[in-house]
Amino acid sequence: MTQLIRAIIDSSALKSNLRQIRAKAPGSRVMAVVKANAYGHGLVPTALALPEADAFAVARLEEGIALREAGIRQEIVLLEGVFSSEQLAEAARQRFEIVVHDPLQVALLERSAAEHRFVVWLKVDTGMNRLGFRTEDFGAVLARVRALARPPAEVRLMTHLARADERDCPMTRMQLERFDALTHGLGLARSIGNSAGILGWEEARGEWIRPGLALYGISPFSQESSAGFGLIPVMTLASTVITVRRVPRGESVGYGGAWTAPHDSRIAIVAGGYGDGLLRSLSTGTPVLVNGRRAPLVGRVAMDMIAVDVSGLPEVEVGTRCVLWGRGLEVSELAAHAGTVAYELLCGVRARVPREVI
Ligand SMILES: *Cc1c(COP(=O)(O)O)cnc(C)c1O
Repeated sequence: MTQLIRAIIDSSALKSNLRQIRAKAPGSRVMAVVKANAYGHGLVPTALALPEADAFAVARLEEGIALREAGIRQEIVLLEGVFSSEQLAEAARQRFEIVVHDPLQVALLERSAAEHRFVVWLKVDTGMNRLGFRTEDFGAVLARVRALARPPAEVRLMTHLARADERDCPMTRMQLERFDALTHGLGLARSIGNSAGILGWEEARGEWIRPGLALYGISPFSQESSAGFGLIPVMTLASTVITVRRVPRGESVGYGGAWTAPHDSRIAIVAGGYGDGLLRSLSTGTPVLVNGRRAPLVGRVAMDMIAVDVSGLPEVEVGTRCVLWGRGLEVSELAAHAGTVAYELLCGVRARVPREVI
């Protein structure tokens, strides 16, 4: 029992998920999305476990630099691009590919004296209204990028879907149609789908796909399991019972007396709290796997521990192994209990939780 709580990262599951995703989009190259510390899984170990990925996508320059320092040689795409001439020069040194979504970024390229010829990903806003050029401005921006003194090594096009995780959503259809009407016939590589786009919308595949969540083995559709897509959860957040106590009927457990024992109960205290990334909004009734069997969390999540009602599990004792999410308990199920999405729970696993890559 060297670590009470740890995030076990199954690198064979990562590789297997990448194969499953490729099988869905056999004609597409894969840009594995590893931003936000690879959704909490660990940036460098995740990238090192995916030598078959054609490229990696990160949100920030520093994330890309960390990959290069770890020896990653594949293409690296900066999803938000660069915001100063210093960042542009660094991106050139590191051979990063840049997303261009704002006029400032076009101006930076026009003013740059760098020898490097970038792969430029022009981002089109087809309705999400977050990043990207509006369709009516796209033609002019493309012309400016092509007219650069140092023209791009290649211009590729991308857009991002706002509601692809909703089956048959008319907004997705509208975004797909807009993007196709604007870009079809230009002879430029295109990228549309995130995980939900790739798995749910055949037209969202294009020359490049950008899976994040599915790579980590999580279904992007709330009503559909990972297994249904052949995906295997990569992270298992494993913990340990640190004591078991009897709580007589009528006594409360934890801060705020938020749960009162309705009958004489056996309560296991399990290592893991909001100091590890569990959300305080996980409430009574949230499942925990104790020794492989489901038992309900009771009372409030504290900084370092939670309480679990194991009245029905007489074998549980100090040292018993638990799973907070992962194999056998989908993180999406917990996310639903906390009123959030799997992404937030995964990204939220704190630095103090050791990652154990297997
Ligand atoms: C984060 C991100 C993705 C990956 O999304 P998932 O839903 O995790 O697959 C793809 N594209 C862009 C632009 C992103 O920001």
